[in-house]
Amino acid sequence: MLHDVVIVGAGPVGSTLALSLAAGDVDVTVLDARPAGHTARSDRSLALSHGARLILERVGVWDALSAVPGAMTPITRIDISQAGGFGQTQLAADEHGLPALGYVVSYRALQAALDAALGRSRVTMRHGVAVTAVRGGSGQAAIEVADDGAEAIVAPIFARLAAVADGTGDAVAFIARHRHDYRQVALVAKLWRAAPHDGTAFERFTPDGPMALLPEHDGYGLVWTAAPDRAEELLALDDSEFLARLARHFGARSGRFTRVADRRTFPLVMEYAREPARARCVALGNAAQTLHPVAGQGFNLGLRDAWELARVVLETPREQIGDDAMLRRYSRGRRADRMAGIAFTHGLVRVFGNDLPLVRWPRGLALTLLDAVPAAKRAFTRAMLFGVR
Ligand SMILES: Cc1cc2nc3c(=O)[nH]c(=O)nc-3n(C[C@H](O)[C@H](O)[C@H](O)COP(=O)(O)OP(=O)(O)OC[C@H]3O[C@@H](n4cnc5c(N)ncnc54)[C@H](O)[C@@H]3O)c2cc1C
Repeated sequence: MLHDVVIVGAGPVGSTLALSLAAGDVDVTVLDARPAGHTARSDRSLALSHGARLILERVGVWDALSAVPGAMTPITRIDISQAGGFGQTQLAADEHGLPALGYVVSYRALQAALDAALGRSRVTMRHGVAVTAVRGGSGQAAIEVADDGAEAIVAPIFARLAAVADGTGDAVAFIARHRHDYRQVALVAKLWRAAPHDGTAFERFTPDGPMALLPEHDGYGLVWTAAPDRAEELLALDDSEFLARLARHFGARSGRFTRVADRRTFPLVMEYAREPARARCVALGNAAQTLHPVAGQGFNLGLRDAWELARVVLETPREQIGDDAMLRRYSRGRRADRMAGIAFTHGLVRVFGNDLPLVRWPRGLALTLLDAVPAAKRAFTRAMLFGVR
């Protein structure tokens, strides 16, 4: 049997693609290695832009997500500062008549809401199916699977289009990815203050790298970039020593933290496919671009990949789904947005350690979330916040 679209990976990006396609007359099958009811990732705080919210609204998961206590936290203000006192700036939602600049969402809660929506949709969802390789071709893509993790390889699944959202791109090794190792790690943790947060996110640029505090539920999610040996040292500290070190590093802006939990690190690399679509296959989400978390761009880009791919597929006659012309339309449509997000994030990382006054720096999170600001005010706000360049 030849499916119209087979999606490899039902993480947030693959699931969003599946739900966006569910509205059309397309035969969609989704494969994920994780068992039903499980999430593939440890929990993490995802920073969502207003545009990403609109996508989640359109696929019908936003209301369910908002109804889960603590699953979604509005960011009402962003406080950006630079260690050494070179500068400080703020972006506030109410100054633009907006309810929020963006949102912090729990990965697990988002995945649960997407899984539930997929369960209600017409899409065929197969859990516990690990894809071993996706092979492109001129007429169809072949998706090789190992069912339930068993050794025996079962017959491949064929599709006009294989959309690979496996979070790594490993399933489509023939789509080349560039890799840059920042030789830094991100230390993430949950933090709580004595006083509740008021929706303010903090981003601080230090000579060691950027740090972010994202308001989440009743506390904060911390992202602290550091050299690997320094991060190891921070992991080894007991909680009170860690909090004291954090207070020294972050300064007084964010208030005093009283509790920390779930300290973990992960290596910081940039990987991206210059051409994400080839031979009836498309890589999207983290499979197409894995970015440094400083600007919160990666996940938002991934959701836009999913939305745009669904739009292109739904506009294409069934017999032409996945053909070269369709893949070119998709790649062309995504190029400017993807490359801008990749270049912006990488450029931001490259200026770490420079003692440039803050006014000359691009401000990561704030720029990502600026799409909340109505277009008419955006240029003015951008100029106010970032200077005219
Ligand atoms: C360690 C780490 C920490 C991060 N922290 C943050 C953060 O703090 N804030 C932030 O905004 N972003 C963060 N990110 C990025 C964010 O997690 C990604 O942008 C987001 O998860 C991308 O979604 P995705 O659907 O593309 O991939 P994923 O979320 O990785 O989902 C991939 C899905 O594919 C499935 N899968 C994988 N391989 C196969 C296979 N062979 N066969 C079948 N199924 C398969 C998995 O089970 C999973 O469900 C982090 C990323 C990493 C790696």
